[in-house]
Amino acid sequence: MTQSTIAHWISGAQVAATSGQQLPVYNPATGAVTGQVQLASGADVNAAVASAKAAFPAWSNLPPLRRARILNKFLQLLNEHRDDLARMITAEHGKVFTDAQGEVTRGIEIVEFACAAPQLLKTDFTDQVSTNIDNWTLRQPLGVVAGITPFNFPVMVPMWMFPMALAAGNTFVLKPSPIDPSPSLFMAELLRQAGLPDGVFNVVQGDKEAVNALLEHPDVQAISFVGSTPIANYIYETGARHGKRVQALGGAKNHLVVMPDADMDQVVDALIGAAYGSAGERCMAISVAVFVGEGTAEKVLPKLIERTRALKVLHGTNLEAEMGPIVTRAAHERITGYIEQGVKEGAQLLVDGRGFDGKTAGEGCADGFWLGGTLFDHVTPEMRIYKEEIFGPVLACVRVEDFGQAVDLINRHEFGNGVSCYTRDGHIAREFGRRIQVGMVGINVPIPVPMAWHGFGGWKKSLFGDMHAYGEEGIRFYTKQKSIMQRWPESTAKGAEFAMPTSQ
Ligand code: NAD
Repeated sequence: MTQSTIAHWISGAQVAATSGQQLPVYNPATGAVTGQVQLASGADVNAAVASAKAAFPAWSNLPPLRRARILNKFLQLLNEHRDDLARMITAEHGKVFTDAQGEVTRGIEIVEFACAAPQLLKTDFTDQVSTNIDNWTLRQPLGVVAGITPFNFPVMVPMWMFPMALAAGNTFVLKPSPIDPSPSLFMAELLRQAGLPDGVFNVVQGDKEAVNALLEHPDVQAISFVGSTPIANYIYETGARHGKRVQALGGAKNHLVVMPDADMDQVVDALIGAAYGSAGERCMAISVAVFVGEGTAEKVLPKLIERTRALKVLHGTNLEAEMGPIVTRAAHERITGYIEQGVKEGAQLLVDGRGFDGKTAGEGCADGFWLGGTLFDHVTPEMRIYKEEIFGPVLACVRVEDFGQAVDLINRHEFGNGVSCYTRDGHIAREFGRRIQVGMVGINVPIPVPMAWHGFGGWKKSLFGDMHAYGEEGIRFYTKQKSIMQRWPESTAKGAEFAMPTSQ
């Protein structure tokens, strides 16, 4: 198989790295190396930031409506190429094709939202704060902003960031995950085709060195990060020390509470989809089921065991597939390590995904990074498999006596990204929404990822910084507010204009 070289995108074209360093890119379904991603040196990052800086004055001065028109064209191209992007995601990430299509669609929704930039950038005006004096607010772009993104959503998560940033008049440097870097270059190409001026959007491939160069660069005004909590914390602290605005979204451990009155068939469907979809490699995946009251677990577990065993774990391009491979060999080892740990800690292993034979996943899959769905019961809050993010297809079942204990358990956890409660009781649902210390809550909805205009963000160690991604908070993050107060002397008339006024 020929291997591709995945380079940077600077000033509207692909550019080779100067570092001479690269990393292999794998197809996780087969274990084959499919490409080499070049890693940025500090000099490469400097070139990308310089390109973004040079593009900023013209881009930020373009009327928002004209910026939005370019995003509109980008939107059209994304819709045309949705399946091409989805195929790239499946090839490097491994997730099943329909799931990859869903990822692209959720990204496209942010672009749709960003196309409303003129409305979003509209601000307040107060007439006559004093005699002949008016006061209003401007929202102005920050300058060059950067996005650092994780492997698990190589299209959607960058699209949480750059459409909003560009719509607001900033220029952008994206540093995607080196695990699945190809979609970033395809998005750059589509932006070019949409008419985005060179330098407004740039991509630097790489890892720690590239990230540090961005964090320390005096011309980078803000950093949006999504990834694991230790790195999010590091990005937040280091970025802040260098005077940058930072939003850093971290890891998760999402619980699904099952009340005794829930519709148990819906619960089984919800747990199977939310725990094992995308092989559990979603920051909103459900990794803990909390069964409330006596007998509730017994109503769910027999079906859950059966369905976990019957999961269709197949090559992601097979349209029958429900779950694909694990993203890397290292992640596979980490997850199987946690399964061993769970057994050692005394949890009851109901379904063991280890030893899954890749050959059954499809032709050429024998050497892929395969794991079956795994289910533990009698997990307790002291166990590492409860406390830590596993980020794989492992579901831990915990039992509590009542609703109050379920809420306390979840509120004590260090993460607070997503949570869900299954019940038919309106009072319980309302109480849950009000008392739970988690940023994104589902009531009879397992993965409550907010829509484009609502904004995305967790609480506690799932988000460092105070502004959520996309939505109106996204616009606030990528702009700074200025208050203007003016008094004008009376002016002389300029004469009438008869043509329909336009923004051209
Ligand atoms: P990661 O933290 O390993 O990597 C994220 C980014 O940081 C990548 O671009 C990577 O190159 C870079 N990076 C890695 N190590 C670094 C270091 N030492 N210094 C500087 N930069 C470094 O995360 P991942 O494995 O790619 O993604 C999975 C994690 O992301 C999970 O913890 C998941 O919960 C989290 N995630 C969170 C959200 C959310 O919205 N809260 C969304 C998606 C993923």
